[in-house]
Amino acid sequence: MARSQVTIDLGAVRRNVDTLRRTASPAAVWAVVKADAYGHGAADVAHAALEAGAEALAVATVAEARELRRTEPGAQILVMGPVEGDELAAAREARVELAVGDGEVPADLPVHLKLDTGMGRWGSSELPRPLPPNAVAVMSHLASADCDPTFTELQTERFARATAGLRVPRHLANSAGALRFPAARLDAVRCGIAVLGLSPFGDDPAADGLEPVLSWRSRLARVTRLEAGESTGYGRRFVAERPTWIGVVPVGYADGFPRDLTGTEVLVAGERCAVVGTISMDAFAVALPGERPVGTAVTIVGDGLLLEEHARLANTITYELACGIATDASRCVRTVVA
Ligand SMILES: *Cc1c(COP(=O)(O)O)cnc(C)c1O
Repeated sequence: MARSQVTIDLGAVRRNVDTLRRTASPAAVWAVVKADAYGHGAADVAHAALEAGAEALAVATVAEARELRRTEPGAQILVMGPVEGDELAAAREARVELAVGDGEVPADLPVHLKLDTGMGRWGSSELPRPLPPNAVAVMSHLASADCDPTFTELQTERFARATAGLRVPRHLANSAGALRFPAARLDAVRCGIAVLGLSPFGDDPAADGLEPVLSWRSRLARVTRLEAGESTGYGRRFVAERPTWIGVVPVGYADGFPRDLTGTEVLVAGERCAVVGTISMDAFAVALPGERPVGTAVTIVGDGLLLEEHARLANTITYELACGIATDASRCVRTVVA
C-alpha cells in the first residue's frame, strides 16, 4: 500500500480560474505554473487553467517552458525569470516570450519589458522610449500585495506613470494584487497560488472564493501505546506523561512534511490529532485520543484541513510547503481527478 496519496482536483483549478476571471475582468488571467505548478503538476494545472479560460501560461525558466510546450503546442508561454544567452536558441525553438529587465534585449523574440517599481530584484529602472519593435508588453512585479497596501499602491502608481501612453499590454498583479487591488489589474493578472486554491494572504482561501486543489492523505502504519516516561522519535522530544496511544504515519520530511511541523494537527479518521515528537525523514507520530486500528485514514491536507494552517505553524508560506511535497512515484501515489 502507498505510504501516502496526493490528489490533484482539476475541477477546483477550473473553478478557481473562473473565479479569478470574474474578479479580474476585464483583465485577462494568466496562469503561473513555475516550479511544476508549485508542486501540483504543471502540465495538468496548465491544461485545466487554459480550459477554464486562462489566456496564457507563465513559468520561471526556459526548461520549464520547453516541457510545457510539449503538452500545450498552441499556448502563449511567458518565461519570467532571467534567461542566459546560451538559452536563447531553446527559447526560440519553444516559441516562448521572455521577460527582460536589465541588459540586452534579444531582438528576434517577443519580449515583455520588466520595470522595477519596488521589488528590487529583476527589472530595469526605466523603460526605453520608444519601445523596441519586439516588445509585446510591459510588466512589473508587486513586492508586498499580501501585506502592505500602501506600498502596493505606490508601485501601482509608479507603473502607471512609467507606462502612460504606451500601446502595448501592461501587467503587474500576482494573485494577491489581482484579488485585492483593482488598480493593479490592468490588462492581465499573473496568478499562481490562487489558481491552486491557496490563499496568498495565508488565511482561508474560501474568503476569496477559492478551493484547494491538492489534498494529501496517508494512514496509521503502526499504533503503539507509550507508558508514562516512554518517548517517541529522535531526541526523545515527546515523552508521555501518562499512558498515550501513538500512531505512526509513514510520511516525513523527505516527503515534504518539514521538521518544523511538530505541533500541527492532522485528521485521524476525521478527528484532529496533534503531531508529536521530532518529525523524521520518513515518518511522523500523532497522539491519538485512544486506540485506533492500523490502517486508519489520516488526512494531512484536505477534508477542511488547510495547508495554510501548517504553513502558519511552521512559520512559512503555503508556496514553500506545496513546492516541497514529494509527488514522485518513489514516495507517493499521485492521482489526478479530471
Ligand atoms: C511567481 C510569480 C507570480 C505569481 O505569484 P502568485 O503569488 O503565486 O500569484 C507572478 N509574477 C511573477 C513575476 C512571479 O514570479
